[in-house]
Amino acid sequence: MSTKKGRVFSGARPTGRQHLGNYLGAIKNYVALQDEYDCVYCVVDLHALTTVEDTEDLRQNTYEMALDFLAAGIRPEESIVFVQSHVPQVTELHTILSMVTPLGKLTDLPTFKEKVRMHPHNINYGLVGYPVLMAADITLYKASVVPVGVDQASHLEFTRETVRSFNYRFKTNVLIEPEMKVTEVPKVIGIDGQQKMSKSLDNHIEIAATPEETTKRVMMMVTDPQRQRRSDPGNPDVCNVFSFHKIFSSAEEVEMVNVECRRAGIGCVDCKKLLAKNLNAHLAPFRARRAELDQKPDDVWNVLEDGARRAREIAEQTMREVRAAVGLP
Ligand code: SF4
Repeated sequence: MSTKKGRVFSGARPTGRQHLGNYLGAIKNYVALQDEYDCVYCVVDLHALTTVEDTEDLRQNTYEMALDFLAAGIRPEESIVFVQSHVPQVTELHTILSMVTPLGKLTDLPTFKEKVRMHPHNINYGLVGYPVLMAADITLYKASVVPVGVDQASHLEFTRETVRSFNYRFKTNVLIEPEMKVTEVPKVIGIDGQQKMSKSLDNHIEIAATPEETTKRVMMMVTDPQRQRRSDPGNPDVCNVFSFHKIFSSAEEVEMVNVECRRAGIGCVDCKKLLAKNLNAHLAPFRARRAELDQKPDDVWNVLEDGARRAREIAEQTMREVRAAVGLP
């Protein structure tokens, strides 16, 4: 019997090769949670269909993302790693939960309004039902804990309300109301120094990039805009390069940059070269593991298949209880 504190569920859309924002904001946390919880990590490909018009890359993106997860330290012998659509019970639970969800509540959600704004030519039913499918993901595996960033707390509150509605409507306690585990997720700014790191904005640095590619991207990073010449003193507090030094460089190096930048003792080129060196050193073990795993793609797909098999066992048990509670013959 597991001695861990409970079951964690988290899902991520198949966005392909992951970048530093994904790594610092989610993957590192996924790896750490394994020490305390039984973890269920899902590549939510059905969710991706709501906004992805060209599905050609879905399979490759799923593979690349799984590769990043495994190379970063997610342990498939302990945690369940799988693809959402490989467990069809989630669509059945989604349908049943949709019966206890008022339509107005869904269309009032700020996330729905934001999606409508972003995808005005493709406002499909899936966009409206997105939070219900998310509630189905979480409750199907009876997750007791869901890690969320501060800005995602309302998403989980929706799931909690849905569980209460379902259990009240069918006079049952079959579904579990998950607790939020609010994590301090650093907002990782892209190399433009302005916006959150994102593949679509092309301001990202892939964790699986080669050292040369990484160095090239680091050298493109926007620095303190007031520092025009090498002889100008800079301000590390407004420089994104310095934010990354604080994560990837030693305490002595951070202190050195902090002092020398302010008195123009170090130039931005040297400062970036130091960051690139430290970043590449930090990611080297991950990249070596990734390259090794990538030699045998079938093994990666087998991990996902085995994860789906274990996930289906939990899912079918939950659905037996749900069907009985609802009164389905
Ligand atoms: Fe930023 Fe470093 Fe240049 Fe200072 S020296 S402005 S911290 S890149």
